[in-house]
Amino acid sequence: MSSLSQTPTDCAERPTKQWVIASNNKGKLAEFQRLFASAHLDVDVVPQGELGIEDAVEDGKSFVENALIKARHASRISGLPAIADDSGLCVPALGGAPGIHSARYAGEHGNDSKNNTKLLETLAPMRSDSPIEGVFVCVLVMVRHADDPLPLVAQGLWRGEILDAPVGDGGFGYDPLFWLPSLKTSAAELSAVDKNDISHRGKAIRKLLTQLPSL
Ligand code: IMP
Repeated sequence: MSSLSQTPTDCAERPTKQWVIASNNKGKLAEFQRLFASAHLDVDVVPQGELGIEDAVEDGKSFVENALIKARHASRISGLPAIADDSGLCVPALGGAPGIHSARYAGEHGNDSKNNTKLLETLAPMRSDSPIEGVFVCVLVMVRHADDPLPLVAQGLWRGEILDAPVGDGGFGYDPLFWLPSLKTSAAELSAVDKNDISHRGKAIRKLLTQLPSL
């Protein structure tokens, strides 16, 4: 993927300022691409994979710690300002799991199908007439440089219910299991534009963008 803030036809006028986005998750990067494009930043936002940067070791205990680890890692290697997202699905009935372990809930990093199966199996014995609540969480961190003492931090939450079987084939991750009762749709049935309008990631990035003038 090329610059996340511009369309291919903009290449002739690419800004010289660059930020790196500390993610190699294709689903997230596709959402960020739309969100940054709609913000019309005078900056090229480059996925870390394009700069040969591998994923950081996420050994924090919270979303914000892991986002900070990822942002500092990408900034240290690239020498550029960096934005990182740590996100996941928290189920209060499971004490917040899968939480920060969402990407590797079933043991294999990024295996959405196995993660969804594990979530369904874990919740099956807990089902009753009442829905099971789920909350998507996104914490975004931006550092101006690797040792930035004052990172920008923004958080977005998205509340819904956990289905007992997948619905829809769009999106990524746990989207097919995330039901929005007010819209009578799953996250995997939303268009990319509609998901960004209401999702945890959309909310977090809009909050982060309001802080950018303080850079
Ligand atoms: P991270 O890359 O360590 O932040 O892990 C993020 C994981 O959380 C993803 O691999 C998905 O399993 C889950 N996740 C985060 N955001 C979403 C979303 O918008 N839809 C579905 N799953 C998500």
